[in-house]
Amino acid sequence: MEHSDPTPSQAPVTAGNRLTIDLAALARNWQSLAARADRAETSAAVKGNAYGIGVEPAVRALARVGCRTFFVALPDEGLRVRAAMPDATIYVLNGLATNLASVHAEATLRPVIGSSGELDEWAAYRAAGGSGNAALHVDTGMNRLGVTFAEAQELAADTGLVDRLGLSLAMSHLACADTPAHPLNASQLATMQDVKALFPGLPVSLANTAGIVLGPDYHFDLVRPGIGLYGGPFVEGMAPLETVVTAEARIVQIRDVPAGQTVGYGAAQTLARPSRIAILSTGYADGYHRAAGSTDSRPGAATFLHGRVAPLVGRVSMDLMAIDVTDIPEAGRGDWVELFGPNMPVADVAAAAGTISYEFLTSLGARYARHYLGDA
Ligand SMILES: *Cc1c(COP(=O)(O)O)cnc(C)c1O
Repeated sequence: MEHSDPTPSQAPVTAGNRLTIDLAALARNWQSLAARADRAETSAAVKGNAYGIGVEPAVRALARVGCRTFFVALPDEGLRVRAAMPDATIYVLNGLATNLASVHAEATLRPVIGSSGELDEWAAYRAAGGSGNAALHVDTGMNRLGVTFAEAQELAADTGLVDRLGLSLAMSHLACADTPAHPLNASQLATMQDVKALFPGLPVSLANTAGIVLGPDYHFDLVRPGIGLYGGPFVEGMAPLETVVTAEARIVQIRDVPAGQTVGYGAAQTLARPSRIAILSTGYADGYHRAAGSTDSRPGAATFLHGRVAPLVGRVSMDLMAIDVTDIPEAGRGDWVELFGPNMPVADVAAAAGTISYEFLTSLGARYARHYLGDA
């Protein structure tokens, strides 16, 4: 039986799966985080192709509701944002890559300087007449990027350094903001307050999405939400904002499989009853994690169709996976099945694969037909 396709109208016929990306929901999520951030400026983390949703449409939608500052990981990503947003402020979180100062300056990408090596290179570049601004990343306890607090103290003793280096921001990053009770939060906050005192007048930024929820002390002058904008959960036990990404795959075929037989590679799952198995046109080459598959010893992720939940059966292959639709008689060839979205939280699917929604979103592959709602 063939089924007509209820949503969205421009259903692709050539792709096996599709993403519906709701840019209006993205914009509303930004607005609700901006309201929570009170007087602090609200920027947006758009690294990783805007957490998989597509960086150009994302920054345009965010700019329309007032976002002016964007954080990317790499100069390459910054160049894409710059092409879409000639006037935006763009920070490059992974810092100043070797010999790239002039590339940053030409595209007015501000490196987030995270080590004394980067600092020396940027200082030499500025001293030679180079232009452009930069942020100073100070490590407050994550031990990933950032100059140490002791280094920051030395830098602060050098009056004129902020102007000489064109510093426009001092920032740090919280390691445990999604766990509000974690003692590292308060410790990082206290260090950041000391950093602020070291550089009077220099704007300061500490909070990611979860950091915004930790309270006004964490907001400083600029907040940097990412995951919350894209509809992912950000604090343990708290509901996420609006769903932005819906991933769906088409049913390629439905087969009847007798009880006792197995489905897929490795014969990893044995059917306990005679089953109707729907084969979906999605696999790990689409970024659907193989670890989300189902085995006899461990249930996998689930999908959603015709108002019901359908669990994965067996392993996820490169281009295909199987779900059990025995209890969903309406299911038919050509139907679109929700992999994650409003009815199947991305966090649940990610958890079934032993990972987090950030990784599921940023893994979204190139084979999806992308359909943008709300003015791309
Ligand atoms: C990714 C990132 C953010 C955004 O974090 P979310 O948890 O996605 O809100 C903010 N700041 C830095 C330094 C980041 O790397």
